[in-house]
Amino acid sequence: MTTLYRIEIDRSLCSGFGACADEAGDAFRLENGIAVAVATSTDPRVLDAADACPMGAITVTEVVDQAA
Ligand code: SF4
Repeated sequence: MTTLYRIEIDRSLCSGFGACADEAGDAFRLENGIAVAVATSTDPRVLDAADACPMGAITVTEVVDQAA
């Protein structure tokens, strides 16, 4: 089993400072000044990215992938 992290960004809250990309560049990047993220990641640094977001725009939900 693998822990997957499902990532959602409230783009209306994002201020584009890029703290998320600094924390977990594999999962987050800026596009036209607004963060975009992969839908799911196995990298626990996405939790740090959510904590680092000054706008509280990132929601990370842990899901267990039974098939992995
Ligand atoms: S840390 Fe938050 S506010 Fe900053 S770019 Fe990422 S999602 Fe946007």
